[in-house]
Amino acid sequence: MLSNSIVQICPNIFPIMPIIRVALDVPVATLFDYLASDATAQDIGARVQVPFGRKLMTGVIMEVSACSSVSPGKLKPAAHIFHDVPPLPLALLDLCRFCSDYYHHPLGEVMMNALPGRLRSSKPLVQKSTTTFQFCFTDAGRAADTASIPARNIVQNHLLARLRESGVISHEEAKQLSPRAPKALQKFVTLGWVKEVPIHPASVTKAVSGPALNTEQQSALAAIAADISEFNAWLLHGITGSGKTEVYLRLITLLLLQGRQTLVLVPEISLTPQLEAVFRARFPTTLLVCLHSRLNASERVNGWLQAQQGEAKIILGTRLAVFTPLPKLGLIIVDEEQDGSFKQQDGLRYSARDVAIFRARQTNVPVVLGSATPSLESYYNAINGRYRMLRLSSRAVKNAVLPTVHCVDTRAAKSKDGLSQPLIMALEKCLARNQQSLIFLNRRGYAPVLLCKSCAWTATCHRCASRLVVHLREKQLRCHHCGHQERFPSACPECGDQDIVPFGHGTQRVEAVLTERFPDARILRIDRDSTRLKDGWERMLKDIYEQRVDILVGTQILAKGHDFPNLSLVGILNSDASLFSTDFRAAERLFVQLMQVAGRAGRANIAGEVLIQTEFPDHPLYHALRRHDYDTLAQMLLTERKMAGFPPFVYQALLRAEAPQINAALDFLASAAAMAESSREVEVFDPVPAQMARLKGLERAHLLVQSGSRKKLQEFLTAWHTKLVTLPVRKVRWALDVDPQEF
Ligand code: ADP
Ligand code: ZN
Ligand code: ZN
Repeated sequence: MLSNSIVQICPNIFPIMPIIRVALDVPVATLFDYLASDATAQDIGARVQVPFGRKLMTGVIMEVSACSSVSPGKLKPAAHIFHDVPPLPLALLDLCRFCSDYYHHPLGEVMMNALPGRLRSSKPLVQKSTTTFQFCFTDAGRAADTASIPARNIVQNHLLARLRESGVISHEEAKQLSPRAPKALQKFVTLGWVKEVPIHPASVTKAVSGPALNTEQQSALAAIAADISEFNAWLLHGITGSGKTEVYLRLITLLLLQGRQTLVLVPEISLTPQLEAVFRARFPTTLLVCLHSRLNASERVNGWLQAQQGEAKIILGTRLAVFTPLPKLGLIIVDEEQDGSFKQQDGLRYSARDVAIFRARQTNVPVVLGSATPSLESYYNAINGRYRMLRLSSRAVKNAVLPTVHCVDTRAAKSKDGLSQPLIMALEKCLARNQQSLIFLNRRGYAPVLLCKSCAWTATCHRCASRLVVHLREKQLRCHHCGHQERFPSACPECGDQDIVPFGHGTQRVEAVLTERFPDARILRIDRDSTRLKDGWERMLKDIYEQRVDILVGTQILAKGHDFPNLSLVGILNSDASLFSTDFRAAERLFVQLMQVAGRAGRANIAGEVLIQTEFPDHPLYHALRRHDYDTLAQMLLTERKMAGFPPFVYQALLRAEAPQINAALDFLASAAAMAESSREVEVFDPVPAQMARLKGLERAHLLVQSGSRKKLQEFLTAWHTKLVTLPVRKVRWALDVDPQEF
């Protein structure tokens, strides 16, 4: 690769005015040349407006050169180079080049994907002052008689709770809490309860002190700290509640003292508010920005610019944040590294975790992958020495122990409406002790199937190869894959019989069953339907923390990251389905999920219990779960994968195709396979329909390619890709998915 900081000189061509090579958001794997009389090497990384077809487009200058393969007469002049914000750093351009090469995706699309929306637009950015304010709780505020605030004044009470907890709240955070929060804060200022202080990026960083570290935390911290200035991939394997976050916080403190930035990647947005509060409480004077897809355009670009200018020292974000320019990057943390949401499933199908590792190596800084249940890929890398493994094997809080896990054999135990007798009894006991319990099942809606009892018809989505889910309260059938909704039929469309019934259990149904069984209990359902409202999830979390809930019913959104101090019982329903899936990752995913849910119980001083309803209590997965034994199961799964030739023992890529007719997709893949030069090192499989064979009205198929060598696979893909783009595509949409997670 040519060094991009130097203007390239071509001696054999007439010196003409500088040419800029521009990355544009078009699905073609090439840069576009334009004349730009005033361009210099300093403009590499700047945004530029250029004529493209009949319109003007905004792109990024990747190179400045004195020559072009396009004849001078055909070159058009660029319209305008933007100088509203500093050009993108060269390291970021390199990161995008890497992604473009590795994922075989057009560089222009990768570049534009990395930019916040505002910077993709054709309007120059008018920068407002980036000084951020925060409100600190004063002694007067702490001493004030806040009981005088009526309970119905939710915003003020909410703010006070937050202030009491963390001592500060930023203007941005307050706005996220409620649009009325800034006004309420002004009132507090008048009352002298809070003080408004600007966050000076350059101000001395002050960390509030945390708990004294236990021995394992200390050695993990010491190990990473000893090599803090160089690249290493660390796998911090710590059970739930072992205090991984505390290790992150100490590492960040170290980096702040050096004036360097830390990038913290978290899987999902629902995790961010809690973690954000913890971080802000620990570093009240540090500029921390959150970057995720739910920010509005100006919030996002502001945070991004504060990061690019080196002012923001902590960048907390979801996968897209991995592309934030960070001039003083000193450390990357990937929390819950095994989480599937780090992988983008459309467009540029990148894994933010893997890009983070590349970026850490490129910048020569450490990357810490944290997890209670590492992905088998990372675990394998750690046991064979490519990553360095650190363990936290006990819970950090004194007296907190891991919950006991039991299986309830549903073949023997009587169950009614999906809940077995032992689980009902455990729930009763829990209620009597005023402790919280959680019923976990990964299926929202009322029932997963609508069934005709006389002819066995089931309701299916006409656009997807899936069943429609019964949503009883809304009297609707819904497809959870494409969002299609229809009215509940009054009779079977096949045989006309009116005896059609919901079959199986979803969260709504379990909620209904529990309400009937425990009429006095306060029951809260938490799934994507119930948390859809803005702030819905945060409000629910607050209710849980403040003990206004007895029984939680929820899906996997409950499983992650949350710390429920009063939760002592977890009941798991319907997990058997994933035991015998055709997806080779299903067992790993189930285990991760169950370990996570089980980890919710008994976090503080309460002994926890987990009951799993299953027909296969002897399955090795449940055995491992009962002993909290990640390692044994991981070794077993690795052995299986090795024998079957699955990742991490091979590297895979999937050529995906979708079309209105399955034959069009399969034909395309067959032609693609015919162009592939398979070798001893690279295996090309036959085209097959995807697991989800129809989605949103399109038939889907794919072709798997794999190799024991990542390098060989990449070489193959590069050669193959140049041929694929020449294939005629009538009504077929295709994409290459490198390191696919779903089939
Ligand atoms: P993890 O991220 O590993 O699941 P957390 O970092 O959330 O665990 O820690 C769980 C709980 O333990 C938190 O409430 C945290 O404040 C507490 N904690 C962490 N380290 C210590 C420590 N050394 N001493 C006491 N409490 C700790
Ligand atoms: Zn019927
Ligand atoms: Zn559908």
